Amino acid sequence: MNYRHIYHAGNIADVFKHAVLARIVEYLKRKDTGFRVIDTHAGTGLYDLSSSEAQKTGEWREGIGKLLAAELPDPAAALLKPYLDVVRAHCTEGVPLAYPGSPLLARGLLRKQDRLTACELHPQDFATLAERFTGDWQAKTLHLDGWLVPGSQLPPKEKRGVVLIDPPFEIEGEFLRLEQALQKATGRWPGGIFILWYPLKNTAQVEDFLQNLAKSGISDLVNAQMWAREPMDGMFHGSGLIIRNPPFVLRPELKTILPALVEALGMQGAGWRLETLTAE
Ligand code: SAM
Repeated sequence: MNYRHIYHAGNIADVFKHAVLARIVEYLKRKDTGFRVIDTHAGTGLYDLSSSEAQKTGEWREGIGKLLAAELPDPAAALLKPYLDVVRAHCTEGVPLAYPGSPLLARGLLRKQDRLTACELHPQDFATLAERFTGDWQAKTLHLDGWLVPGSQLPPKEKRGVVLIDPPFEIEGEFLRLEQALQKATGRWPGGIFILWYPLKNTAQVEDFLQNLAKSGISDLVNAQMWAREPMDGMFHGSGLIIRNPPFVLRPELKTILPALVEALGMQGAGWRLETLTAE
């Protein structure tokens, strides 16, 4: 396990993924009954942007750094507010000192009736994550292989919720594992919302993945992508999210958020894509 998210925290892919996660959590809050957020590959939860690792790549400057400095159109600013409020809690004079990862973002949005389960396999990162949530009765951390979540943690006792599956893509076969995990997870929790993250780098692999999902028999799948520079095969240029059981408001929200993110973060050749892969 070589992947360390500290090098990438707050980058364009994090911004896109976390903006969508926040919109889904906000949707779940429309009903009073509690829900659960499950993060299968959680990371450490908070990333020091002054660390040598974050400084070395400077990826956050192209992502959250640009977004915080951007003048967003009002509708996009309103939709991004819950996400950016959590981020701004770690800012001084508008500059982020640390960046909250998915478990801390989700936790920052929960009400007292909602719960979080965050899994991380890297021993050191898990220790950091577990310490961060010590004494927090709404959050459970598990030193667990995230790929075992569908079989061991689903369905949760809450009837509603969202599962983020965000693997590091450091080894071959992650697209297939994502597809298999989604098959198993939807079988165990048909009503759950799922968000799957994938990188835009190898075009043929991405298109195979999308075609396989379209033929998978899994209903109600949306594919959303955002890239911040001219797509070039073999070079990371953005990321995609597969969303299963998207809330009915998500498509229109994405049509507002995605162009605003491209405008705020994108260089020449930046763009977005939103499509229904399978019907409800
Ligand atoms: N979800 C986090 C966020 O948005 O802030 C970022 C997660 S990062 C992309 C992927 C994480 O998965 C890393 O912290 C890595 O240590 C962890 N990881 C790698 N393999 C894993 C596995 N099989 N099960 C659980 N965690 C794993």
